[in-house]
Amino acid sequence: MGKATRPLAMVLGAGVSGLTTAYLLQRCGIDVLLVAEQFGRRTTSVVAGALWEWQPAVCGFYEAPPKAVLQREKRWSIASYERFLQLLGERAAGVYLRRVTFYLDTPAADNPFEWQKMVEMRPHVHGFCHDAALIDENGVNPAMGFVDAYAYLAPMIDTDMYMGWLLGEVLCGGAVLKPERLESCSPQQLCEFARNHGADVLFNCTGLGALELTGDELIPVRGAWYLVRNDGTDFAAIREAHCTALQSAAGGGEFIFIVPRGGDRLILGGIAQPYQWQKEIDEQSTPALGHMLEQCRLFMPALGQAKIHEASELRVGLRPFRRRGARVELESGAVPLIHNYGHGGSGVTLSWGAADEAVQLAQQALGLSAAAVAV
Ligand SMILES: Cc1cc2nc3c(=O)[nH]c(=O)nc-3n(C[C@H](O)[C@H](O)[C@H](O)COP(=O)(O)OP(=O)(O)OC[C@H]3O[C@@H](n4cnc5c(N)ncnc54)[C@H](O)[C@@H]3O)c2cc1C
Repeated sequence: MGKATRPLAMVLGAGVSGLTTAYLLQRCGIDVLLVAEQFGRRTTSVVAGALWEWQPAVCGFYEAPPKAVLQREKRWSIASYERFLQLLGERAAGVYLRRVTFYLDTPAADNPFEWQKMVEMRPHVHGFCHDAALIDENGVNPAMGFVDAYAYLAPMIDTDMYMGWLLGEVLCGGAVLKPERLESCSPQQLCEFARNHGADVLFNCTGLGALELTGDELIPVRGAWYLVRNDGTDFAAIREAHCTALQSAAGGGEFIFIVPRGGDRLILGGIAQPYQWQKEIDEQSTPALGHMLEQCRLFMPALGQAKIHEASELRVGLRPFRRRGARVELESGAVPLIHNYGHGGSGVTLSWGAADEAVQLAQQALGLSAAAVAV
């Protein structure tokens, strides 16, 4: 009886893409069966530095997607920015709005790529400012050679809280969880699997797992950061984020990524290592980790006393990079199959916009009018 009025969606994947999709589905009157091998802390989404960035983003940049795809990703970023602002009042979600400064090693006026990025993002973010004086004001080591800077207010998400909050919301919305790993099966077999569970539509939000499930060209871009205490004990607490601008970071696979996490921790990163699958690494096996930390301390001398002690943590994850850009697309089968994966180093930034588009595709495929199902 319920089935006649409430369709059922099977969502594969419980990272930020799957959970955001599930959240929006429920608000459109669609029930959710959430199938995933890993939940919570074992997903890549918990490893996200979770800084909102204009596209193409610095975090784990490997290669820009085609222009049309980039336009779409910019739209998704804008939608997410607005959504994260709404979540600021939701304490349990762990969303913060803080200033981030990006530092350039050439004047922005001589750098058409960064200039265009600044012009494009300006109308969509709060508190934008372009001022080379930020370098001194923020205590950046002049010897690092940065000559220009811009800043804006960005959502920064404490993923430990946020992923728990999202899962809680989806469970409160009535989602049923099914912990299960799907072994390499074809999209057709996935659709059969969904149909056998009574689903009317299937969402593939499996991140890098989509490589095995679809055969699509996905590349792991390994990233890592240290999480250190930021309560004023080891160094004066840092309340804003500091990053290298994309063109200043490109090439070496290392970039400055200093981002406050929650109320009293600080992320020190980062690295971007394509085709590296190994997540069990340390400074012996991967000297880039030590170098990353050294660069952060060199960049911001105030961090000189930042200690890696028992309270610190190293997080390592594989960004699900897709050369053609994130895939949000409908594929027909025994049930409509909607893909939402391949967000690279921007899965949190793109999450609300991409999920919204994926849900709209489902509404169209199921012949549901958006107006009829909207809450
Ligand atoms: C170091 C680092 C820093 C980052 N920083 C940022 C940042 O600052 N800003 C930002 O926006 N993004 C950032 N990212 C990127 C972001 O983390 C990812 O884009 C995002 O987490 C991808 O989310 P997802 O839900 O698509 O995939 P995941 O979080 O990987 O979730 C995939 C889900 O699918 C399930 N799954 C996969 N295969 C199968 C299968 N065969 N059977 C069953 N279940 C399966 C998994 O178990 C999991 O539940 C960063 C990533 C890293 C590693």
